[in-house]
Amino acid sequence: MQETLTIKEAINDVSQRIMSACKKVGRNPDEVTLIAVSKTMPVEAIREAMACGVIEFGENRPQELRDKQAVITEPLHWHMIGSLQTNKLKYVIGKTVLIHSVDSFSLAQAIEEVSAKKELVTEILLEINVAGEATKHGISPEEAEILIREIARLPHVKIRGLMTVAPYTENAEENRIYFKKMKQLMVDINSKNIDNVYMDILSMGMTGDYEVAVEEGATLVRVGTGIFGHRVYLPKE
Ligand SMILES: *Cc1c(COP(=O)(O)O)cnc(C)c1O
Repeated sequence: MQETLTIKEAINDVSQRIMSACKKVGRNPDEVTLIAVSKTMPVEAIREAMACGVIEFGENRPQELRDKQAVITEPLHWHMIGSLQTNKLKYVIGKTVLIHSVDSFSLAQAIEEVSAKKELVTEILLEINVAGEATKHGISPEEAEILIREIARLPHVKIRGLMTVAPYTENAEENRIYFKKMKQLMVDINSKNIDNVYMDILSMGMTGDYEVAVEEGATLVRVGTGIFGHRVYLPKE
């Protein structure tokens, strides 16, 4: 997709499409924040996006995040969007504005421990496997409330909302039901008035489906390919 656009043109295009999607359903575009998913992309690509005013970046590997932060020292908002092992949390806690990918109490507990030691509160999203795909991370929508009630008791972890990676599809409309389900789940859980829990962030929508996600209530969209072009994965050393 958009192989021929420069990063700048692509950012303008994505931003316009987000605005149009908001307009279509009467949402205020200020409610939606674009996260440029820069995983695998070089520092120069991130700098190009920064030159267009982008400050929100998504990474999925803690060491890659650490390496990029060692070079790019401007005060950006980094988002951790990938699955996390507890031994890598030191690269993430206090170094990102939001962890999108919490899907177990043990991970939340580990975040609590590291955050308490650093004397800070870490904001997180719960990752929901909304379509029940066997290959995906995340908990089922049915498990969300119980996990939220448990995590809500951790003093150094703050649940801000929900995140999902919807199924891969050529037709974004097919994911509309899942985005609707995510929004409803957030509304339902908020209505239970759980102590310490009020969720207002819905992280959903990627290159193939972010416009539909915005129409259905996304507040954060995570776009990689649509901004930086296709990723090339090198084998791990
Ligand atoms: C890679 C990734 C994205 C971006 O995907 P694109 O299809 O390239 O936009 C978004 N969210 C998560 C969790 C990812 O791992």
